[in-house]
Amino acid sequence: MIDFRLTTRQQEYREFAHQIALEEMRPISLECNRTEQIPETFFWNMQKRFRGGIDGQAQRYVQEGERSAALLAMLANEELAWGDAALTTAIPGPGLAAPPLLSQGSREQRQKFLGLYEDEQLHWGALALTEPGIGSDVAGMATTAMLEGDEWVINGHKHYITNGARADVIITFATVDKSMGRAGIRPFVVLKGTPGLIIGRIEEKMGLRASQTTELIFENCRIPRENLLAGREASGKTGFKAAMGTLDATRPMVGALAVGICRAAYEAALAWFQEELPAGYPPFKRHEIEETLEDLRQRIEMARLLVWRAAWMADQRLPNSKEASMCKAYAGELVMKVTSEAVRITAPGEMSERKQLIHKWFCDAKVFDIFEGTAQIQRLVIARRMFPKVNIP
Ligand SMILES: Cc1cc2nc3c(=O)[nH]c(=O)nc-3n(C[C@H](O)[C@H](O)[C@H](O)COP(=O)(O)OP(=O)(O)OC[C@H]3O[C@@H](n4cnc5c(N)ncnc54)[C@H](O)[C@@H]3O)c2cc1C
Repeated sequence: MIDFRLTTRQQEYREFAHQIALEEMRPISLECNRTEQIPETFFWNMQKRFRGGIDGQAQRYVQEGERSAALLAMLANEELAWGDAALTTAIPGPGLAAPPLLSQGSREQRQKFLGLYEDEQLHWGALALTEPGIGSDVAGMATTAMLEGDEWVINGHKHYITNGARADVIITFATVDKSMGRAGIRPFVVLKGTPGLIIGRIEEKMGLRASQTTELIFENCRIPRENLLAGREASGKTGFKAAMGTLDATRPMVGALAVGICRAAYEAALAWFQEELPAGYPPFKRHEIEETLEDLRQRIEMARLLVWRAAWMADQRLPNSKEASMCKAYAGELVMKVTSEAVRITAPGEMSERKQLIHKWFCDAKVFDIFEGTAQIQRLVIARRMFPKVNIP
């Protein structure tokens, strides 16, 4: 049976997130974007309201007997990105470190590392997969992990790591044997302050400017042997599976964030059309805008349904690689279209705060087509699932 209605608890969590977006994010959005800084009070307010991050809070809204934590997190992510996607990524909590810990960590590892997020202090998490020159094709990963006695020694260079500089737990992917290609890749837990973990450059970006994106350098960084996820000296393809399993969980989240920005831009363009359209605007232009807005509205709802399906499948523990990639590819491209149309539609007349926000969302949009795998990579994942017998390079 298909039922598209949200339960009372799901509606409550959505409303809770929307209020935060409205009260805590929109008022500081433009200033944080301009300065690339986030006030400390924002972090503390978020820590109070999202204990254990967006996913941790979602867990508390799950109704008894239901599996809906992923869907709840998507509802919240859409609302929060409607407020400000960069600020959403900066909400304290394990963030991108959670999926690999949950899917590949032992019970002890989950307790130990996710347990860090249960106190009242500010803690973040990060996932370090990308290296200069190695993003889409993780098989070429250059960061190495060598076992020396009871320690792994990590050497390498990661870049574009969201929250890398502030993260308490960094899930770092490294190869234990380059000749093994993908099969040699393993996820390791590196804690903040570990000697040999060097925080490099904080990137200055076009979009998501208030979201901190960092270079991380590992120079003979020694971590305990038990910080290897996926079991002791995991063999075969478990490490690569961990990387990919993480993306199956995070791609719908990126899709939900993109839908949130789409909605913000669509609503702002609609409000401008209804409230600020210059007098004497020619009817044919008016009709064109009406048609564009109607078309965008349909597409946004399609993107949301794709996100909800991928999240629902994750909640039901169903394999969702194809669906996660579909929603990410669709929403990641749509957000560029919607924000670009919003800029175009609202071009006439004076600059206003509404237009400044639309311009900001336009700049924020592009990265949704890049991180967690570009649109081209999503299409490869989808094609591999659709045509499993075809050997696509
Ligand atoms: C703001 C921001 C935050 C980020 N946060 C994180 C993070 O927290 N953790 C992390 O690990 N990474 C993060 N990233 C990195 C991001 O995931 C990578 O940039 C992305 O995966 C693309 O990798 P790349 O930049 O190396 O580009 P490449 O992989 O080199 O791709 C370049 C181009 O080639 C295309 N291409 C590559 N391979 C193929 C192929 N086989 N077939 C067809 N086309 C192909 C791509 O689609 C793309 O257009 C972040 C990036 C940004 C911009």
